[in-house]
Amino acid sequence: MMNKCSPYKFPSIAERLPPPPPFLLLARKELPSFSPFISLISDPKHHNHHQKKTKEKKKMDGPIFVIEASEAESMAKQSGLTVLQLLPALVKSAQALARPPISDYHVGAVGLGSSGRIFLGGNLEFPGLPLHHSVHAEQFLITNLTLNAEPSLKYVAVSAAPCGHCRQFLQEIRHAPDVQILITGDSTDNQSYKNDLANKQQFEPLSCLLPHRFGPDDLLDKDIPLLLETRHNNLSFVGDALLPNGICASFDDLKNEALEAANKSHAPFTNCPSGVALMDCEGKVYRGSYMESAAYNPSIGPVQAALVAFVMGGREGYDRIVAAVLVEKQGAKARQEQTARLLLKEISPKCELKVFHCGSSSSFNGCNNQNSC
Ligand SMILES: [Zn+2]
Repeated sequence: MMNKCSPYKFPSIAERLPPPPPFLLLARKELPSFSPFISLISDPKHHNHHQKKTKEKKKMDGPIFVIEASEAESMAKQSGLTVLQLLPALVKSAQALARPPISDYHVGAVGLGSSGRIFLGGNLEFPGLPLHHSVHAEQFLITNLTLNAEPSLKYVAVSAAPCGHCRQFLQEIRHAPDVQILITGDSTDNQSYKNDLANKQQFEPLSCLLPHRFGPDDLLDKDIPLLLETRHNNLSFVGDALLPNGICASFDDLKNEALEAANKSHAPFTNCPSGVALMDCEGKVYRGSYMESAAYNPSIGPVQAALVAFVMGGREGYDRIVAAVLVEKQGAKARQEQTARLLLKEISPKCELKVFHCGSSSSFNGCNNQNSC
């Protein structure tokens, strides 16, 4: 019987090495500014029809972080790959989406969900702040899945071996030990790519990367929703949503967006869910939900989650963020407010943050920013 931890190998991959897809070649040459699939969708061999080109040009407007299932199948077919083989082939594109100004070490993670959609993520670093504020590529990937209501993650291809922090964070997914991981390495030329296909393209279960796991099973009842599973935390603002003298009126929509994010927050270990909504200078809103880890430290704060949404929106400088609302429970044991202020002040000094508390019927609901309200 096959060892449970034996790496899965693509059948006959060594015999049938496909040429690297054209977007991979471009990715290697122009990594920092590469937007996925540009070379593929602009390749006249693939697309001759004028209308099709016009339609596809729209896709080139911003970076692509989610590929629909039908599109993934079509891309795989065009490249002579299977959808699974497409994951490592897209890792370079995911690396190009990372924003690591401190380390300049681009990590890319590409995941396949149970819906057949493909998701991309890259690492985020924030100069001027302690390193623990960073978002790892795998965390970005999971946040991407939550923002797009993907119910489960099946496969992940990542450019570097997942760190212990990420191996732990992934435990929040149900059946995490069965998630299949492929480490592509950081090959930079065509020969390396072919060697990777021949030798290294092996998925192995997360249980092999993190045996003897500690996870939600150790702390929670089995019927409690885990990360990626549907939940509603039943948080609400109590009484009137007081916005004194209309000063905070522009924050009203943002407040409701943040509440919705808090209601989707994965916080079963502290029962202190929270959510953030950010608004940029064009009035676009980006939501993020706090996501806890059973091991606490790998948790992702709500501001970081909302920043993932901001980056996915294709927005450039964080200083474009002009307003933010944090919603969390009154008297929460695990509070986000001070960290949220610190983070936003550093990356977007002009951003105004307001904090609203909510909870059960006895909870206080009010704007907590004494300076502004
Ligand atoms: Zn990591």
